[in-house]
Amino acid sequence: MKKVITLKDVEDMARRGESLSNLPAGAIITPSAKDFLKSKKVAPAAPAASGGNLGLTISEPAVKLNSKSPKAELEALFNSPWCEDLKRQLCDMGRRLWERAYVDGNGGNIAIRIGEDIALCTPTLVSKGFMQPEDMCMVDFEGNQLFGRKKRTSEILMHLQIMKAQPRAVATCHCHPPYSTGFAVAGLEPPTCMIPEYEVFASVAIAPYRTPGTPEMGKLVADLSDKHNTILMANHGVVSWSHNNVEDAYFKMEILEAYCRTVLVAAQLGKKPNTMTPNQLQDLLAIKQNLGIPDPRIGLKECELCDNNEWRPGVACAVDASCNPAAPATDPAAEELVSAITDQIMQKLKG
Ligand SMILES: [Zn+2]
Repeated sequence: MKKVITLKDVEDMARRGESLSNLPAGAIITPSAKDFLKSKKVAPAAPAASGGNLGLTISEPAVKLNSKSPKAELEALFNSPWCEDLKRQLCDMGRRLWERAYVDGNGGNIAIRIGEDIALCTPTLVSKGFMQPEDMCMVDFEGNQLFGRKKRTSEILMHLQIMKAQPRAVATCHCHPPYSTGFAVAGLEPPTCMIPEYEVFASVAIAPYRTPGTPEMGKLVADLSDKHNTILMANHGVVSWSHNNVEDAYFKMEILEAYCRTVLVAAQLGKKPNTMTPNQLQDLLAIKQNLGIPDPRIGLKECELCDNNEWRPGVACAVDASCNPAAPATDPAAEELVSAITDQIMQKLKG
């Protein structure tokens, strides 16, 4: 039977100086107890039976542990209601990635910072759509696994390198959404100044290709994390980080992928897309700055904004549409070869 936590219980806990964030996972919390927790700025976790997080999180422990903390303390943290809630959030984000076809096979991985140099992350060789909270792993910032029955993702180094380079990164998300990955394969940053949400919430850059999971790959991405929160990985996929929470890191993927689809549709309509003016973009960048989201364009002059020089919409098949018979022949060397072979065949036929 589930434990019921009443107002008296939480009041007694507070009187005894106990941490209010250590309520048993899945317990039923009465409305008056919830109000009391809210007044103490402790948000109760959603009950496990509800199938996930309802936007409520248990506040994190006041003292941040690190990889050198006593093993028993680290284990208690790994099994604490706070971490159990984060594990459920990882499963929830994984399911959303899979349902939107942003991951394929066992691809994609997600991580959440839970201490000075420790993180929770998703396991390797499991579809992100079908993970259980008990599959989650705890690692130190060198990638050593500390707890968890399954092996941690092989791409964890990249997440950790972002967290090391960018102290504000509390969560990271990596996946392979097809439209965004198409841009990454083409080595093309999506054009800008078309959709406000993209301008406000995402700051996109491209990192060159390296073998997934290698420190070289992680470094290239981490070096961009200062000014960018959403990084296209050439010939691979996308990785994002958030200074808010793991759902926010996931949202970058939705925003980027929807944007890349929209840009491709706009590029096929036979008309140059309308774009916002540099002045209008300036307003969006001001909102972005207020939200604490980095962007290399913050502080640029208006004439330097909305530069889409790399973008070539409407570049289509190279076949001459007029079917002009006078169109020049292709390659003189190839023509020479064809004529030499034809001569040889004719000689043989004659012989
Ligand atoms: Zn990948």
